[in-house]
Amino acid sequence: MKRFLLFFAAALALSGQARKPRVAVGGILHESNTFASDPTDLEDFAGRSIRRGEEVRDEYARSQHEIGGYIEGAERHGLDLAFTVVANATPAGPVTDRAFETLTSELIERLRQVGPADGLLLALHGAMVVESYPDGDAEVLRRLRKAFGDELPIVVTHDAHANVAPQETELSTALVLYKEVPHVDQRERGIHAAEIMAKILKEGARPTQAIEKPPLLYNILFHNTNREPMLPLVQEARRLEKANPKILGVSVPVGYQYADVPQMGPSVVVVTDSDPELARMEAKRLADMMWEHRKVMKLDLPDAAEAVKRAMAEPETPVVLVEMGDNIGGGSAGDSTAILAELVKQNARGYVSAMFDPEAVRHAVALGIGGDFDRPLGGKSDDLHGAPVRIRGRVQLIYDGKYIETAIRHGGRRYLDQGLSAVIHAEGSTPDLPNVVLINSKRHTPFSLGQLTSAGIVPERQQILVVKAAVAFRAAYEPIAGTIIEVDTPGLTAVNPNRFIYKHARSDLFGIR
Ligand SMILES: [Zn+2]
Repeated sequence: MKRFLLFFAAALALSGQARKPRVAVGGILHESNTFASDPTDLEDFAGRSIRRGEEVRDEYARSQHEIGGYIEGAERHGLDLAFTVVANATPAGPVTDRAFETLTSELIERLRQVGPADGLLLALHGAMVVESYPDGDAEVLRRLRKAFGDELPIVVTHDAHANVAPQETELSTALVLYKEVPHVDQRERGIHAAEIMAKILKEGARPTQAIEKPPLLYNILFHNTNREPMLPLVQEARRLEKANPKILGVSVPVGYQYADVPQMGPSVVVVTDSDPELARMEAKRLADMMWEHRKVMKLDLPDAAEAVKRAMAEPETPVVLVEMGDNIGGGSAGDSTAILAELVKQNARGYVSAMFDPEAVRHAVALGIGGDFDRPLGGKSDDLHGAPVRIRGRVQLIYDGKYIETAIRHGGRRYLDQGLSAVIHAEGSTPDLPNVVLINSKRHTPFSLGQLTSAGIVPERQQILVVKAAVAFRAAYEPIAGTIIEVDTPGLTAVNPNRFIYKHARSDLFGIR
C-alpha cells in the first residue's frame, strides 16, 4: 500500500494542478447497547436519518457534525467530494444483520457508482455491534477492503465512545476520534480527517498507526473531558499533535461500557507519518497515563429519592437531575419513571421531565389543547425502567416536535425532531412555576435546550430539570444550570457496572468487579 501511495502522490504532483483528488464520503453510525433487547433495524435508521448523494451535503454542510467538517476540510485542502450514503440511528440494541447487510451493500454499491475515488472519508461511530459481528465497524472496513483492495486510503472518524477493535488500525489508513466529551469537536475532527486525507493524496504522507487498550472499564461518570481525570490527557493529545509534525493524530477515546464485546473499553490511537516506533511509544505512554485514572474512579451517587429531596431544597437553580440509568444517548429506553415517580411522590414544584410515550401523545392529541389529562406515563418499554406513573393535569401544547440547534452541541446535529409531542402541566402547577411533562413520540437525546424552548418551556425559570443522559447534555445545560446532580437510577445505562453481567468483555478489566 505504501509504495502505491508514494507513486500516487508523485503522479499527482507530475500532473500539476490538473485535477483535484476525488474523495468519497460515506457513513454508518450506531452505538449499540448489547444489554438492550430491542434491536436496531433498517426502519430505525430510516426513521432517524439516511441521506444519499447530495442530500448528505444538504443535511450536514452547516452542521457541527464531522461530515460538516469533511466538507469544510475538503474546501480548505483542495479535495473534491463525492457523496455516497450516510445512515444514522439512535443508540439502542445491536443492529440486525438485515440492516447491516443492506446499508453496507448500499455503501459499496454507491462507492462503485461515484467512480474510482482516490480516497474515502468514512464516518463510523465505532461502537456498532451487529447480530453476527461483535465488531460491526471493523466488519464495515473488512467489506470495503474486500471490495476495493488495500490501496484505497480510508480515513475513518469515530465517536469518543468508540470501543476500538485493534484490527481497525490495520483495516483503516488512519483513525481520528472525537477528543471531547461532550462531543463539541466533531466538526473540528472532520476537518482533521480531511487534512490527513490531503496529506496522503497531495503530499505523499504514509500513515502508520498504533493502538493501546488499557485494561479498564472507563466508567461513564468520568467521561467529561472538561474535568480531571480526562482533561490533562486530552490536553496532552492536543499538545502532541501540535508539537511534532510527524504525528498526524492522537486520540484517547473513553469507550462505551454498555457493549459486552471483547473490544469494550478505552483506547489510545496514535497516527504518525511513517514512524511506527513513535506511534507505539506515544500510545504506550498515554495508555499508562490513562491506567492511572483508575485510582480516582469511585462511584458514590444519590438515589432518586435522595436526589429529589436535595433538588427541592437547593437554592442554586435550576437543578439538573441526571437520570444516569436512562441515558438515551447510551441506548436506553427514554421512559424511565425513577425520578418522575419521586417528583410526584414528594410534591416537587417547578419540575420539567421529558418522557418517551407515543401512546400518551396520541391520547393528548385526542383530548386537544386544554383537555383534562389523567393517564399513567412512561415505564412501558421494558421492566427495567420503573412502573408507569399516573399524571393528572392539563394539555398545554401539542406540536410536531421539530426544532433547529445552531450552536455547538454534542452530536453536532442541526435539524432535530422528537416526533409529535405534547406538553402537560401536571397537578400543582402555577402560572409562574408549572410542573411540566413533555411527552414525545421519538426517543430523543437531551443535547439541546431547543427541545424545551421549542415547546414553550423556559428552563431557566424552573426549579428542577430532569435529563435522561450522562455527560453529553452538559454542553447545552451547563450554561444555565444552577446545580447538577448525577443520580444512580436503574436501567439499561445504570452507572454501576455490577448491575450487568459481562460474558464477552475482557475478564481482567478494572472497574467491572
Ligand atoms: Zn459519544
